[in-house]
Amino acid sequence: MNKEIRKSILIFLAVFAVFVFAVIISESINNTNIINTYPDKVSIAVPDIVSVSKPSQEAFDFQKSKVATWLIRLFLGFAVPAFFLFSKLSAGLRDWASCRTKRWVSMVILYFILYSLIETLIYLPLDVYTGFFRMHRYGLSNQTLTQWAVELIKSFAVNTVITAVVIWVPFLIIRKSPKRWWLYLGLVSIPYLMIGSYVQPVVIDPIFNEYKQVEDTQLSSKIDNLLAKTDIENCQVLQVDKSKETNQMNAFMTGVFNTKRIVLWDTTINYLNTDEILGVVAHEMGHYLMGHVWKSIVFGGFSSILVLYLVYRLSNRFLAKSNGSWGFGKLSDIAALPLIMLMINVMLFITSPVINAYSRNIETEADRFEIELTKNNFATATATVKMHQQSLAMPEPGYVYMLWNYDHPTYKFRVDFANEYRPWENGEPLKYQKYIKFK
Ligand SMILES: [Zn+2]
Repeated sequence: MNKEIRKSILIFLAVFAVFVFAVIISESINNTNIINTYPDKVSIAVPDIVSVSKPSQEAFDFQKSKVATWLIRLFLGFAVPAFFLFSKLSAGLRDWASCRTKRWVSMVILYFILYSLIETLIYLPLDVYTGFFRMHRYGLSNQTLTQWAVELIKSFAVNTVITAVVIWVPFLIIRKSPKRWWLYLGLVSIPYLMIGSYVQPVVIDPIFNEYKQVEDTQLSSKIDNLLAKTDIENCQVLQVDKSKETNQMNAFMTGVFNTKRIVLWDTTINYLNTDEILGVVAHEMGHYLMGHVWKSIVFGGFSSILVLYLVYRLSNRFLAKSNGSWGFGKLSDIAALPLIMLMINVMLFITSPVINAYSRNIETEADRFEIELTKNNFATATATVKMHQQSLAMPEPGYVYMLWNYDHPTYKFRVDFANEYRPWENGEPLKYQKYIKFK
């Protein structure tokens, strides 16, 4: 192995070990802090102020397990593509695919299908544990193993097909423009993500779940009244049958242009009271009015140019140092896929605290809008507590884990915000008055 590559691997392993140590230390500090400072029982003594109580032992255990599997997954994100490279498995797959077909595009697609099949099998034990056994152990899943496996196969098939259809495009761009591909690819990603967001709710999502109008007519008319307080027109509010899989709660806003919609998991409707559900809807309306979906697409597209530029620089550097020992000499060779994946994973690891911070900021603004629209701080706070306690979420995790995993603020932060944010009580203007028709 080339000296510089060996040195890079050693440096990487050392950095990763320090990172794991920092995660463990910060989790332990956080747990001690929670045990010492959080009240044992929620005492909603003061009307309108909700306090967050000490999490259950189960929540502590679940967090420990989540941290462990996250670190394993993170490590595999580097180790698996490295294995494809150093074992020359990647070059072998390309040779195998080249023997099966004459056309370059079908060779690339064939390679990719094999690659994702092997990758899926490597991750399978971890996925079965985190997606099925652990969920049952903590009482969060309603699926049988067969149902779970069917969902896994479905999502493997859907993801593989969607990626296989376009996987040759970046390699064609790399071949045509070896020095500028990172720019073109980043720019192409914006319309691609746009189309993806457009078709996702109407084409992809229905493959997995059933989406329909909110069944409870009383709730539905209250949602309409809430929508009427803003300029939102023709917004669909749908419910999705998540209760067949889980008893966790959630809601989301999805789609762009005329596929925009707010979706409530039916569990959210089943477990929360009307005021709390309306608060959840208002939060999603905030995302809708502030255009968070398309802003994220543009933000994602432009940051991908930066990420891809660094991937371009690093990949070529390592490729030159490899001296052909991986069985390929150009980045436009499909056998270079694991090298590119490895570099992307390194870059995502470095940039995810920034991406998450951006997302947490957006979420706080949606919470702010929710409170300004409903002026029901209490319902916002109780809904936040119920949704997170149901999922055995920690009120706050260790700081390092939070930076790398939390695309929403911690639920302690959200409850505190809901308790405190009342600008109207001091005669201060609402930040999002422009979106609200009536006072
Ligand atoms: Zn949100």
